[in-house]
Amino acid sequence: MADEPTKAEIALAQVAPRISDLCGKVNRWTRAGNQGRELYCPECAAETHVYHFAWSVMKCGKCKEYIEKYRWLTP
Ligand SMILES: [Zn+2]
Repeated sequence: MADEPTKAEIALAQVAPRISDLCGKVNRWTRAGNQGRELYCPECAAETHVYHFAWSVMKCGKCKEYIEKYRWLTP
């Protein structure tokens, strides 16, 4: 099967095209740094701020979905 975008990813691209354009997914090399890092929910594009990546799943404060670390989008 091809790796096609989910409905949520398509919706996100329509709602927040700039986020999709400017962001990549979090990966194992993503670091928060001293100032922390902005993350965007792949389901609803809500912005959140993290200071570390010592977690594997985080709940979105807006849509309440549990999002795996490597699905979050970051600039
Ligand atoms: Zn969300």
